[in-house]
Amino acid sequence: MPVNLLDFNQAQLAEYFKNLGEKPFRARQLMRWMHHFGVHDFGQMTDIAKSLREKLALEATITPPAVQLEQVSDDGTRKWLIAAGTGNGVETVFIPEDDRGTLCISSQVGCALECTFCSTGRQGFNRNLSVSEIIGQLWLANQSLRQADGYDMLPAGERIISNVVMMGMGEPLANYDNVVTAMQIMLDDSAYGLSRRRVTLSTSGLVPAMDRLREDCPVALAVSLHAPNDALRDEIVPINKKYPLKELMAACQRYLEKAPRDFVTFEYVMLDGVNDSVEHARQLLQTVRDVPCKFNLIPFNPFPDSGYLTSKTENIRRFRDILMQAGHVVTTRKTRGEDIDAACGQLAGKVQDKTKRSARRIPLEIVV
Ligand code: SF4
Repeated sequence: MPVNLLDFNQAQLAEYFKNLGEKPFRARQLMRWMHHFGVHDFGQMTDIAKSLREKLALEATITPPAVQLEQVSDDGTRKWLIAAGTGNGVETVFIPEDDRGTLCISSQVGCALECTFCSTGRQGFNRNLSVSEIIGQLWLANQSLRQADGYDMLPAGERIISNVVMMGMGEPLANYDNVVTAMQIMLDDSAYGLSRRRVTLSTSGLVPAMDRLREDCPVALAVSLHAPNDALRDEIVPINKKYPLKELMAACQRYLEKAPRDFVTFEYVMLDGVNDSVEHARQLLQTVRDVPCKFNLIPFNPFPDSGYLTSKTENIRRFRDILMQAGHVVTTRKTRGEDIDAACGQLAGKVQDKTKRSARRIPLEIVV
């Protein structure tokens, strides 16, 4: 079985070449061809000796995952449905803005963490994505955008994707090794050369893995908070029962010692009548009081049988104002790509649920 070189970071690729009896600098050359120039045919790698190119063609491949579907929204948002085997799919979304282009990448097929407001969590879990399937999303999006209207005239070296957020399907820290290797490739100057400040990992709060990440690959951190106290967070983000808010806040403080940005972004989905009252906002200020932070308020995107409604606009404003009056920077996420179901919370391919959780769930209309 040929090895897929998209599974390797530069150090692992150097080891691979060493085992072939080749010089380690070949790794840097390969990284540039594969990731910087997006070449997957060894025959085109003109500064590599022909004999080595022939050897690589026999025992290695450069194979990104397959795209099943690409959609473009009226607002320029693009979504790719990526094949993940046995009928599964994951989604990658590109969001263009005036000053940046952000790619949202998935890390798992489904998710095992069961946050109650999340359509991915509702579908159950199938498997972790491999390194090539994670970094392959960036590879594919780059290739696709280079050929797209509006981007096809850009000079070869000019970046279209300036930021990456690990916020798609899955809990990235539950697929730790593969996600860290993929992020190392994103940061590698021979590959994508993104700065740590422009790669953001979003976690629901796996505290031990946050501590490991701080040492191994400190990128910008976002935390899916969504509730201001343990009782409510236990309910809507169940991992909180294992790592409650006090431990999570302490982990955020430790993370900031090495983080490329001097704040954590707390994400807070606005659920009507659940977590959006004045009292919740005040509790939230207390909970985060020792962590330098910004807030991103996310109006909930309803999906079938979710059982939740989006907070009323005036309640989102009221909540935002309380946080701002306490001196915090607060953004309210705009919904993007609604016409192609790319809006946050709708990153749901079809997951073959190995946990059988989706089958155990009783539809809400039957309960009521
Ligand atoms: S919000 Fe994140 S961690 Fe929670 S179920 Fe959804 S994908 Fe998993």
